[in-house]
Amino acid sequence: MKLIDTHCHLNLPYFKDDIDETIHRALNADIEMVVVGTDYKSSKKGLEIANRYQNGVYVAVGLHPESLEDRTEQENGDKAYFSAEEFNADIYQQLAKFPRVVAVGEIGLDYFRHNTAAHDWELIKQKQRQVFREQLEFALQLGLPVIIHCRQAHDDMLSLLTDFKNKYRQLLPTERSWGVLHCFSGDENLAWHYFNLGLSISFTGLITFSKNWDSLIRKMPDDRLLIETDAPFMTPEPYRGKRNEPLLVSYVAKRLADIRGVSAERIAALTTANARSLFRLS
Ligand SMILES: [Zn+2]
Repeated sequence: MKLIDTHCHLNLPYFKDDIDETIHRALNADIEMVVVGTDYKSSKKGLEIANRYQNGVYVAVGLHPESLEDRTEQENGDKAYFSAEEFNADIYQQLAKFPRVVAVGEIGLDYFRHNTAAHDWELIKQKQRQVFREQLEFALQLGLPVIIHCRQAHDDMLSLLTDFKNKYRQLLPTERSWGVLHCFSGDENLAWHYFNLGLSISFTGLITFSKNWDSLIRKMPDDRLLIETDAPFMTPEPYRGKRNEPLLVSYVAKRLADIRGVSAERIAALTTANARSLFRLS
């Protein structure tokens, strides 16, 4: 049963001691993966990792909205991986020319507020929108799909994507999606807005411990469904609380199969075909 984990962060220090073992565990189980960057350093690291493998490990390069702020002083250890960076298309262009790069991501908007003063916060949000737009255009130029992160910012996200689509309608593919809303956690109404824009959505281990998305999962179009781990985060049941890894994407597939009342093989075939189409994998 071939699966593709469309979103994992094996490039973060959580995997520094056992990265190759982690990748082998997945590849041996016929699971391929897309290693997703959050800034220049992690994007470059993702590429170095992918280049060590003949097959099955792909990369996305991009600047995460949280990487625009220096959050190194945050107490939350995760935020220590986000340090302020200006988006510079040239340095990402250098990375993106490597054949293993299959997407620009993760990029987007994150309005979950940390310890920022109100005035600075408005400037940061403005900057997030500007950098996101630049990266959408950058992806279009390169002919790559986008992996989108959105937290507490769906109104701005929808209006920004609608403007983008209207502006570049002729250049965007119509026969397949041009991007994915990763770790989708919005409601049904929101999902349909994204489908209408020509985007797919991707589910993580979150659906293994919440029934919030069952109805959407039953009704949504087959060709817009993707799976991911977002490892090391979002660990599925029964491993919640432990570090996540690409191998465990099978639990997301299994849960989708249960919700839809079909076999896991059917979900595997469907989501793998969708990932291949989005990222243009052979
Ligand atoms: Zn991510």
